[in-house]
This record gives sequence, C-alpha cells and structure tokens, in this order.
Amino acid sequence: MPADADIRANLAAVRARVDAACVAAGRAPDEVEVLLATKTQPAARIAEAIAAGARLIGENRVQELAAKDAELAGLPCERHFIGHLQSNKVNQVLRYVSCVQSVDGADLADRLQRRLETLDRTLDVLVQVNTSGEASKSGVSPDEAVAVVQKVATRDRLRVRGLMTVGLQSPDDAAVRASYRELREVRDRAADVIGAGLPVLSMGMSGDLEAAVAEGATLVRVGSAVFGPRPQPD
Ligand SMILES: *Cc1c(COP(=O)(O)O)cnc(C)c1O
Repeated sequence: MPADADIRANLAAVRARVDAACVAAGRAPDEVEVLLATKTQPAARIAEAIAAGARLIGENRVQELAAKDAELAGLPCERHFIGHLQSNKVNQVLRYVSCVQSVDGADLADRLQRRLETLDRTLDVLVQVNTSGEASKSGVSPDEAVAVVQKVATRDRLRVRGLMTVGLQSPDDAAVRASYRELREVRDRAADVIGAGLPVLSMGMSGDLEAAVAEGATLVRVGSAVFGPRPQPD
C-alpha cells in the first residue's frame, strides 16, 4: 500500500486524468466530480484522503460505513452508498449517507421511501443500471430502466438525480465505451419521459475513467488509483 503522502499525489494524478479527459472531450473539467471508492480501506487512510481534498466517499457495505463512522462523521465529506443494498439494511444505511447510488428496483425505492417518511427527510438517489449484461452485476436492465426511474420519481422522499453503472470490465475499449454510452442514452430517454433533468451519470473507475468522461460521466468512482490495489478481491 502506498504511504499517506502518496494518497495526495494519487488524488492529484486522478484529478489530472479527469481534467485531461474533459478537455479531450470538449467538456469543462468542473462538470466531473471524483468520488473515492473506499471499500476495505481503514478510516485513517480515508481521513488522509479527505485532508488531501477528497469530498465524496463511496462505500459498498453498510458494515463498513458503521465501522468507520466514528472517525469520519465530523469530517468535511459526503458519503454515498454504491454497493448492493439489502432491504434489511435500509434503516441503517440512512444513518450515514446522503445519496444511495444503487437503487435497483421499485421495491428498494419503496422501502427507502417509507423509512424516509418516518424520519421526515429526503434522500438523493441514482438508479443503478446493468449496462454490461453480466449476470454477476447488480442493476436494472437497460430495458427496464426508464420504467424504474418513472416509479422512483413518483416517491416524494426520493430525489432521483440520475443513473449509475459499473460498466463492462473488458480490455476492449470500444465495448467499455459502448456500455457507458448506453447509460447516457438510457438517461436521455428517462429524462424525456419524466420531463425532468437527470444530471448525474455515475460511471467510470480507475481503469477506464477516460472512456466514461468521453461518454458524459459527471461522477467517476475511483478506488485503486488512489489507495493502491485492494488486499482481497471484492
Ligand atoms: C470498487 C468500486 C469502484 C472503484 O474501483 P477501482 O477499480 O478500484 O477504481 C467503483 N465503483 C464501485 C461500485 C466499486 O465497488
């Protein structure tokens, strides 16, 4: 694992990659935010990243959010949930995050809505779409996505901000890019149908953020490029 000084340098290198990708795509660099995917990282390293300027943190597991909460809660960062959310974890996750990026169906949306009514608050959400066609990936299929966005948009405690995808993991750049393009196209259709903008496209990771930015990403989720390789596979 890199030393903490490296976290700062790695963050700057990721930001420079995002900026260069924006310029190459004719986009303004401030259109794209970087979220740190912090699964398996200890809270102390995440705190280092926040000290180095990171403002968005994404966790995949509610247990990790809970375990790191005491060290991170007071720090100037926003936490998002980016993993598969089991329905029995809905109450817990809402203690920690301001956005759930992984809404993968109307059932989960309904559970969130009911809990948010009890808490009398709202939540930003993204609908997760499986653009890779891989059965192992979560998310609604591109065919169902517009209907799911429509349903989620009717839940008054949920503010649907856009879409998220994990994308295709492949050495074939054109195929990876096509999976990101598909998310953008689904977003455009969904925005038409609900008659409201869906500004957020959360897509792109350490290995392929350039392709995602080229296809319109507004939020890239980066882990290993900042923290180094993870000890165990996810
Ligand atoms: C781990 C993870 C990432 C970041 O992956 P890296 O390849 O380490 O950048 C992004 N999104 C999700 C949902 C993840 O679980």
